[in-house]
Amino acid sequence: MPSLQAQLNLACQSIQHAIGVGKVADYIPALARVPADKFGAAIVTVSGEKAFFGDAREPFSIQSISKVFAITAALNRFEQQIWERVGHEPSGNAFNSIVQLEKEHGIPRNPFINARALVVTDALLEGQTTTDCSNQMLELVQLLADDDTIAVDNEVAQSERDTSHRNAGLAHFMRSFGRIENSISDVLDVYCRQCAIAMSCEQLARSTLYLANNGTDPITETHIVNEERGRRINAMMMLCGHYDASGDFAHRVGLPGKSGVGGGIVVVVPDVAAVAVWAPRLNANGNSHAGTAALEALVRATKWNVL
Ligand code: GLN
Repeated sequence: MPSLQAQLNLACQSIQHAIGVGKVADYIPALARVPADKFGAAIVTVSGEKAFFGDAREPFSIQSISKVFAITAALNRFEQQIWERVGHEPSGNAFNSIVQLEKEHGIPRNPFINARALVVTDALLEGQTTTDCSNQMLELVQLLADDDTIAVDNEVAQSERDTSHRNAGLAHFMRSFGRIENSISDVLDVYCRQCAIAMSCEQLARSTLYLANNGTDPITETHIVNEERGRRINAMMMLCGHYDASGDFAHRVGLPGKSGVGGGIVVVVPDVAAVAVWAPRLNANGNSHAGTAALEALVRATKWNVL
C-alpha cells in the first residue's frame, strides 16, 4: 500500500492539466486578484498524520466553507430551534439564488446557500455586537484548527461588503417575511468578515477533523459538537455542500464536502481524515474545477467513501 503522501502526490500530479481550466470568482473584486493557477492540497488523519501537496500552506479566502463553522456555532447555541428558521433540503439552485425564497415564505432551503447563511448570521448576532460576533467566529475557527494565527483578510471582507448587493437583496427579501431580526447592514458586516477568514489547506483540513470523528477533535480531544449534530452537519455537506452541483460532486467524490468561491473545498472521510484542496479557478457552479478533479483522483486511489 503506497503511503498517504505518495497517494496524494499521484492524485494531484494526475490532474495538473485541470489547473488552468475555469474562471476565478470576480464578483468580489479582491478575489479576482488571487493568482489563478495556485494549487494546494492537504490531508490530516484522525491519528494526526499529515500529507501536503503544492501550495498547501498558503492561506486563501475560505468564503462559503465558513458556513460549516457558522452552522456548528448555531447548532451549539440554538440546538434544534435553528432548523425552524432554515430547512435542510438541497436547493438545486445557485448559491446566491432568490427564486425559492418567495414560494417558501422566506425560509431558506438549507444552511449552505447564502440566504440561509444570512439567517444563521442573524441568529448568531442575537444579543451581541457585530465585533463580538465576528470575533467569536474567528475564535471558533482558531480552536478547531488549533492555530491562533488564523485571521480575517480585511481587504477581502471590505471588498465583498462594498459589493454585496445581491446578499443585501436576499436579506431585505427575507426581512419582508420577518425572517431577519437585526439590521441588514450588521448582518452583512458579520457575514462578509466570516467569509473573508483566510486559511491554508492544512489549517482547513485540521479544522474539520472533528467532523470525521463524531464531533470531537481527535488530536486535542476537545468536544466540539455532539455525535448527532456532527452527523447532521456531514449530511448537509453531502447533500448541499456544492449548491446545484451537489449531486455531481457526490457522484464524483462521494464524501461530505463544502466548497467556497475562493477555490477551496474541504471533505470529510468519516473515521479516517479530512482533506482540503485549493485551486482558484471555478466551474460554472462556482466550485473549484481542479480541486474537484484532485479529490476525485484521490478517492479513486484510496477508496475512501462513506460506507
Ligand atoms: N461570500 C460569498 C458570497 O456570499 C460566498 C459564496 C461562496 O463561496 N459560494 O457570495
